[in-house]
Order: sequence, then C-alpha cells, then structure tokens
Amino acid sequence: MFSCWLSRLCGELSTPTRRTTQLIWSSAARSMVLSSQRIPELSSFVARTNTCGELRSSHLGQEVTLCGWIQFRRQNIFLVLRDFHGLVQVVIPQDESAASVKKILCEAPMESVVQVSGTVISRPPGQKNPKMPTGEIEIKVKTAKLLNSCKKLPFEIKDFMKKTETLRLQYRYLDLRSVQMQYNLRLRSQMVMKMREYLCNLHGFVDVETPTLFKRTPGGAKEFVIPSREPGKFYSLPQSPQQFKQLLMVGGLDRYFQVARCYRDEGSRPDRQPEFTQIDIEMSFVDQTGVQSLIEGLLQYSWPSDKDPLVVPFPSMPFAEALASYGTDKPDTRFGMKIVDISDMFRNTEVGFLQDALSKPQGTVKAICIRKGAKYLKRKDIESIRKFAADHFNEEVLPIFLKTNENCNSPVAKFIMEEQGLGLVKLLETQEEDMVLLTAGEHKKACSLMGKLRLECADLLEARGVVLRDPALFSFLWVVDFPLFLPKEENPQELESAHHPFTAPHPSDIHLLYTEPHKVRSQHYDLVLNGNEIGGGSIRIHNSELQHYVLDTVLKEDVKLLSHLLQALDYGAPPHGGIALGLDRLMCLVTGAPSIRDVIAFPKSFRGHDLMSNAPDSIPPEELKPYHIQVSWPMDAETEKSSSNHPCRSES
Ligand code: ASP
Repeated sequence: MFSCWLSRLCGELSTPTRRTTQLIWSSAARSMVLSSQRIPELSSFVARTNTCGELRSSHLGQEVTLCGWIQFRRQNIFLVLRDFHGLVQVVIPQDESAASVKKILCEAPMESVVQVSGTVISRPPGQKNPKMPTGEIEIKVKTAKLLNSCKKLPFEIKDFMKKTETLRLQYRYLDLRSVQMQYNLRLRSQMVMKMREYLCNLHGFVDVETPTLFKRTPGGAKEFVIPSREPGKFYSLPQSPQQFKQLLMVGGLDRYFQVARCYRDEGSRPDRQPEFTQIDIEMSFVDQTGVQSLIEGLLQYSWPSDKDPLVVPFPSMPFAEALASYGTDKPDTRFGMKIVDISDMFRNTEVGFLQDALSKPQGTVKAICIRKGAKYLKRKDIESIRKFAADHFNEEVLPIFLKTNENCNSPVAKFIMEEQGLGLVKLLETQEEDMVLLTAGEHKKACSLMGKLRLECADLLEARGVVLRDPALFSFLWVVDFPLFLPKEENPQELESAHHPFTAPHPSDIHLLYTEPHKVRSQHYDLVLNGNEIGGGSIRIHNSELQHYVLDTVLKEDVKLLSHLLQALDYGAPPHGGIALGLDRLMCLVTGAPSIRDVIAFPKSFRGHDLMSNAPDSIPPEELKPYHIQVSWPMDAETEKSSSNHPCRSES
C-alpha cells in the first residue's frame, strides 16, 4: 500500500545521503510523466533549461541552467539540488577564480533556492551511483545565483510526515515540498485532466460552472450561511450543484459535468472536509445502467498507469444484501468474514440473551467467523469487543472457539449443543484457530454491530500480521436498490430521503408511494471502493407533480423553497439522471494517503480551521454593520476569542 511506501519513504528521507531518496523522487516523477500521453515541456517559459531529475549521460557536455532548493551539502564540495522532478549532484568549484560562486553555494542555508549554470559532466569512475537516475552525471558549476535564502525551518522537510498534522497544516507551504504531497497533488491533477478528456473530448460533455452563492436547500446536510447586505437575507453555500445540474438538463445542456466545490457544515472526519470536490455529472435521456457504464469508463480511462488496469463492469450488490452480509451500505469486499444469519439453528437455545432476542418478532441471531481469531485475538481484544457492543449497541456479543474436532470452548460452551456447534462449523466454514462471534437482536441493528466488529477484527488481525486485504487491490462495488426513504433517526415515524429528495422511485414501486412509501425502492446507486463510499447518484424525478408530492406529502418539506425547480420541471424537463464522485476520497484511496487532507493542497483542520491563515477569523463590529449582524458572544467569550487567535494551540 502507498501508506507503507510512504512510511518507508519517510525513513529514507530522514537520511538524505542514501541513494534511494533519489530513486523515489524520480520514480514518483516518472510515473507522472508516463501516465500522460505526451511528455510535457517541463522547462518552457522559465529561467531553467532542465529539471533536476532529468539529466542523464545523454546530456553530457550540455550547458544547463537549473533552479531548485538546496537539499544537502557535503564537505563544501558537493551540493544536492532538488526540484519536483528529482535530485542532481552539483560540484562546487574550488578554484580561486570561482570564489564568489563557492561562497554562494557554501553559505546558503539548506532549503534556500538557487539557480546554477554549468556543464553536465560524467562522474569520475567509482563515484557513479547506479541507483540514482541522475547518478552517472554531475553538474560542473560556472555561475550561481542565490534566488532566495531560507531562514531556519521550524522542522526539516524530510521529517515532515513524522510531525504532527497541526504543524504540517500550519506550515502547509513547506509540507507541500515533501515528496508525498508533490506526488499526491500531481497525480490528482493528472487524473482530473484525464477525466476532462474522457468526458469532454470522447463523450461530448460540457463543463459548466454553477454558483457558489446560493440559497437554503431543504433537508440534507447543514449548510454554511453567507450574510448579504439586505437585512435578514442570507445566501447559503451549496452542498452540491444538484439543483443547478437538473436545471441545466431543462435548459438543454444534456451532458453536463463540473469539477465542483461543495460545502457542508458538518465538522471534519478523517474522510470529510467542510469544503470538498466532486466530479459532478448529469445526463438527459439516461438510465441507471447508462450512468454506471459512463463512470466505469471514466475511471478506467483516468486510472493511473502505474497501477493494475481496472476491470469493468464493477460488481453490483443490492442494499439489502450489503446490510445483511456486511452490516453496512458500503461493504469492504476485499475480504470475506461475512455475517451469517443463524437464527434457525438457535430456536431451541438455552442461552438467555439469544432466547430473549428470538422471542421478539424481529429477533435474529447473527454470527461472523473471525479467521485465525482464536490464535491472534487476545482476551483484552475480546473484552473490548464486548464492551463496544454493550456501549454502542446495547447488545451482547458472545465469542465461541469452535474446534473442528467438535469441541467447543466458550463462556457458554455447555449451552451450545453439539449439533449447533457442528452446524456453525459447516455454515461458517470454520477452521482450526478461527473464532466465531455471535450476537442477537433486531436484524438491522445486529447486522450493523456485526459489520462494525468485522472491520474492527480485520484491523486487529492485520495489526498482528495476518494478511486479509491485498494492499494492491482496488475493490469497486455498485450498491443498488436502496429504499427511497428511511425512517428519521430522531423520529422513526417520519421519513427522510435515503439519497436526496430529487431521486426517482423504482418504476415498479411507484404505486406504493401513495400507500406504503417506506416500501418504495429507488433508482439510487452508490459506488463503493474498498469499503468507502466514493460516489452516489440517481435517476431523478422529472415530473413536477410527483416531485411536489414527495417533497410536500412524504417528506413534509417547505415546497416554496424549491418552487423554481418545480416550475422548471413543468416546462418540458427531459428524463435525466446523474452522479457525483468524491474526488478527495477517491484520490486518498488511489494514493493510499492516511487522510483526505493529504490530497488537498490547503485543507481545513479537524475543527474546520485553516491553521495557516487562521480562518475563520473575527470581523470588527463596524464591518459587520452593513450586514445587519451583531455577534452575541457566548458566556465563555473571552476564552473563545483568545483560542480563536491561536487555533493551532487547541487542535491536534
Ligand atoms: N448531488 C448528489 C450528492 O452530492 C449526487 C447526485 O445525486 O448526483 O450526493
């Protein structure tokens, strides 16, 4: 996995004299060049003739000018110059006549930026470095210019990944110099370019920008609010261009896409940011298969060339199966350990909590087999699993160690009958050293708990060296046949959209909309990669009356907020559908980065702050006046004020 590659890389970078550093720089740069069709001109329009990483024996004798950062200096004789393309060795002239050049190159602090001109020469015999792409040559410098000196850094660039994320975000412009960030951002740019190529040039899509100053949308995520100069009137930042892209369909722009910035005021999580980017797509006259095929083609076309090519079509799984077998709507299908319903096997059980659960109408018993769990999971792991189940799900979990020789070892061994033990072995295909986890409860809740434990145990096993998930595997999956509505968490009597209120019902379930809306399936599809939702979309409602009914009668939303859309649907709106891919999450998985913040140039911190510029910032009261806004400071205003001046201190 790239993350392992990264940690190895960090190790290498902390010892810059090691030859492999050069190798890594150049392999990152090479993979970038290889994955675009033409080799780009990397030195056009600028004050260099070549990049640091590109010089080879074929350049011997050439006069070159290079610009870069001083990475390393050895005994005032050699200097290693770095740019995004690699490293090159520069020989510092020692003769009297070049004293001024020597002074510049020997006195400039590390990470200063310099321009050197000189000749590409062969390294003396015995000094060639076959592991470095530029290891056969060096630059005999004639002139040098200090373009800018570097003050003492708050840390060394090469140690960056070892620093806290707070420090990295505070000095993001330095963090961006690291190999990892260079690789991530350049690969992102290349993939987006390929996506544009595929959509615009190969399939006639039109790139349309939509507003970021918009109005409140009913339902969905919390939105950021922007004050206007009209008293009491606010814009909202869009959660996505959903309404605009549908209106573009009404407007006849029948194949739309946009690399769209979206905003949700939901607080950060490892895979979320308050502002994030979607590859947003909408098409007229399309069905679900059409959208899915488009996305498969798009990903296949833009997939990095240094990875195994993608095989399409991606497999599909109904939502109900995802929930029953994996306990989630975003299953990680890189490994098995699926949830199995064993209710029938335990109808006559004497185990209290199983009996209890099965006596209820929706009661079920579920099990997963943890491969090698008996060997690798410790007593304290099992305790924490049971505690997690009790704290978060109010459920019991029972570990059972089944021996294939029919003995069974468990806190309730005496209650597990022989045929139950044998049945479990057969159904779960347990082997020596496996462990079975068993729980009971209402189907959805029991599956959801088992799904969480499945992932938790996989992490634990992997931490102990068991290989469960192939690090090179990208396991894409379509999850389909979602319900159109789900009970609201806070009030299960009311319904909310499973995707969003513009999603069309499954054609064969439309009649149920008016009688049993909770039973209606939708034309919504999600794309999952290695257990992460990386995209979602739907075929839309294009009939104004139906849309009005869903908003008003089923969802109890204020239809006035969407009158423009309802009106537009009445003026010859074509049937249409679309999807949005979460670009940050996709890139995070492709690069193997630990967080989406590692594939965003200037991300927000966990608490939504920009630690570099200190946003959000306060505004003096007189500047708030034109907006008719006054701050009502909370009780601990002083603390708030002072911590907002130093957000880095309070974040980790
Ligand atoms: N706008 C939707 C979202 O952001 C995606 C879509 O339905 O096309 O999830």
